[in-house]
Amino acid sequence: MTQAIVIGAGLAGSSAAERLAARGWTIALIDRADAPGQGASGNLAGVLRPLPSLDDNRLARLTRAGFDHAGEHFAALTAAGLPLRWGRTGVLHLARDETHAATQQRVVELYQPAADYLRFVDRDEASALAGWPVATGGWWFPSGGWVDPASLCRANLARYGALIRPYYGCEVARIDRHAELWRALDDSGAVIAEAPVLILANATDARRFDVAAHLPLRAARGQVSHLKAEAGSPPGIVVCRLGYVTPAIDGLRCAGATFSIDDFDALLRDTDHAENLAKLDFILPGYGQGIHPEDLVGRVGFRPLAADRLPMIGQVADAAAVDPNRPSQLLSEIPRLPGLYLINGFGARGIVWSAFAGELLACLITGTPLPVADDLVSAVDPARFLRRGRRKRSRVTLGVDC
Ligand SMILES: Cc1cc2nc3c(=O)[nH]c(=O)nc-3n(C[C@H](O)[C@H](O)[C@H](O)COP(=O)(O)OP(=O)(O)OC[C@H]3O[C@@H](n4cnc5c(N)ncnc54)[C@H](O)[C@@H]3O)c2cc1C
Repeated sequence: MTQAIVIGAGLAGSSAAERLAARGWTIALIDRADAPGQGASGNLAGVLRPLPSLDDNRLARLTRAGFDHAGEHFAALTAAGLPLRWGRTGVLHLARDETHAATQQRVVELYQPAADYLRFVDRDEASALAGWPVATGGWWFPSGGWVDPASLCRANLARYGALIRPYYGCEVARIDRHAELWRALDDSGAVIAEAPVLILANATDARRFDVAAHLPLRAARGQVSHLKAEAGSPPGIVVCRLGYVTPAIDGLRCAGATFSIDDFDALLRDTDHAENLAKLDFILPGYGQGIHPEDLVGRVGFRPLAADRLPMIGQVADAAAVDPNRPSQLLSEIPRLPGLYLINGFGARGIVWSAFAGELLACLITGTPLPVADDLVSAVDPARFLRRGRRKRSRVTLGVDC
């Protein structure tokens, strides 16, 4: 029987564990929290929708792959009676301005997607969909929606639960490789688990381990605000416009989110609630009138983010063996650490990417056919940052929706 250790029980770790367990692997799943989905993956709800572009760039293709995998995977979890909470209400992605509206329209004209995947709607139709007067038209994704990410983690882990042994409340202080087995050790030096394969799904904390310290992973703090909402009140769909607002879920509506890099303040801030209310006003003009930042509650999370904003999925490079004076141009020439893998850097799109990322990682580990084209596999390869001639893109652009 094949065995792996997964460190991290968020969207990344639970997806990797589920996909390997589906292939009969047994998993030791370790998280310092006392339950799955307590880190960035612990928000009340997040948004599921792809991000098309005029040039159908890598981000567009990866979010499409992610969206398609997520839809199928979530439907399968639901069909299996697992406790995933999500709503395929549709997502309305409003244009920022007239220029953006023209681009959105052009994308739809150019690629002619199926109408149940994506349509451009004018301002009147957008207002009717939102149940509130909006300022512009935009993209309408009828099969997008909201997802409770912690429930997705729990459903992932329950699907093949007999094969996944959880170790909650266990912080991994160190990892090493001994007699061809990777070991996860606690701060007293005791071995929590050992296996031939180890998967780092512990967000930015992966960098605490020497073998992963070279990875350009950063934390992007995000605060989401929770607004009281009566059941059935508008909007009954997700609406985005440089921010997002969800339908009512258990009497609350999520509005967000802020985005600040290398900001480690875990406490809720009124200034961030004010920023979320300003975003809400941009999405649904006048909707937040009478709501005051100091009256709001919410949640803070830290998104693990790669410098190029693409996820990191694959085998970890042996960075110590790469000669800085003679780095390789080819990913295939970069030496790797046997049995050590990474699923990380989901940034603001963990809900969109996790099902696809788990499947891709399981295929890479087991040597089975990959679910996407080779150039996309290379685009998410964690060794990409060690390649010679790689374009420097350390600046992270702001202006995300989630
Ligand atoms: C405010 C906000 C809004 C968002 N909105 C959206 C959205 O609308 N749509 C979308 O697609 N995505 C959204 N995201 C992004 C998404 O939530 C993240 O990309 C995703 O949760 C990251 O998952 P992860 O498993 O990599 O990290 P995490 O969920 O943080 O999981 C990492 C886990 O590792 C554990 N861990 C860390 N170090 C150790 C250690 N040494 N030993 C043991 N355990 C360890 C932690 O306890 C944690 O449980 C949002 C994120 C935030 C913060």
